[in-house]
Amino acid sequence: MKKLGFGCMRFPLLDENDPKSIDLEQVERMFDIFLEKGFLYVDTAYPYHEGESEKAVKKALVERYPRTSFRLADKLPTFNLKEEADCPRIFQEQLEKTGVSYFDYYLIHCLTKDLYETAKKCKAFEFVQTMKEEGKVKEFGFSFHDTPEKLDEILSDHPEVDFVQLQINYLDWEAENVQSRACYEVARKHGKEIVIMEPIKGGSLIDLPKEIEADLRKADPEQDNASWAIRFAASLPGVRMVLSGMSSLEQMLDNISFMENFVPMSEEEQKIVLEAGEKIRKTVAIPCTGCEYCVAGCSQNIWIPEYFKLYNERQRTLSKGHDKAYDQAIQTHGKASDCIECHQCERMCPQHLPIVESLKKVSESFE
Ligand code: SF4
Ligand code: SF4
Repeated sequence: MKKLGFGCMRFPLLDENDPKSIDLEQVERMFDIFLEKGFLYVDTAYPYHEGESEKAVKKALVERYPRTSFRLADKLPTFNLKEEADCPRIFQEQLEKTGVSYFDYYLIHCLTKDLYETAKKCKAFEFVQTMKEEGKVKEFGFSFHDTPEKLDEILSDHPEVDFVQLQINYLDWEAENVQSRACYEVARKHGKEIVIMEPIKGGSLIDLPKEIEADLRKADPEQDNASWAIRFAASLPGVRMVLSGMSSLEQMLDNISFMENFVPMSEEEQKIVLEAGEKIRKTVAIPCTGCEYCVAGCSQNIWIPEYFKLYNERQRTLSKGHDKAYDQAIQTHGKASDCIECHQCERMCPQHLPIVESLKKVSESFE
């Protein structure tokens, strides 16, 4: 199977301030091209686009193409589980929302130390295994955001799992808060195939600091930033799929251009890109991926990822004073300084970011 998967968490929007306003017409064109070029793997999840991603997949893909012409991955939202009965209830809801009778891949979503305890309490592993035995799930996986030691523990407890989904990109390969390399090695030790998420780290490996972009261009004038990032991930042994959250037809055509006839990276290319990652780590102020997992539970309605994006941009361009985009965002959301330090968001953050402390920097800079 071709190694590029369509991540359905960043569909194009009709209104940039409304994650539910998916541009269905453009998404249909994207699916048309994706399938026409021979790609198959489509990855959605319960919370993406505040619940609208699964429905968009139904309308733009499932209702327009034969079931055998694509492979669909969906995920059990561990963070929404309270009791055992939630697993079949949500699973049934997902089948209805996506319009399929089975999932090719079904993952327990976002396992961390705490959410692993939730999954155990709600018997999530037993539930997915039963769905597999009943033919409603073809392959069983989980996505993971914690330490290599925790991954080792979960894979030792659950050898029945077919594959794992890990955050791997050249920036996080050696990053302390993500430990991509060490997690990758644990999965390989257990003989599991790997699906990669965040290969371009929420888009941050597209918009690179000028001097790093110049280094990459010098090494290969033909290769763009997305290609360096996605090919790095896809070239690792044991990687079956790399998910890219493509947000426009243009991005999709670009990704397809280097993944249609994929050529693995040479050792030299790998060295160059890992060196670039080292340099970027020193310049990115707040390594937020924009996943928005932190947003829903914030009682102050603080638009955390947007503020971090604006802050990173400001650090990069060394600008100061009031910022139009920030002033506009706080018309409809809480300000960074409205944070009451409840730390709810930090418990949800897969990147383990010190959100409260970072918001203080945002408020000092923008308010
Ligand atoms: S710590 Fe601040 S930003 Fe985080 S959930 Fe609480 S109020 Fe919101
Ligand atoms: S702060 Fe963490 S949870 Fe929130 S958007 Fe960024 S990476 Fe995601």
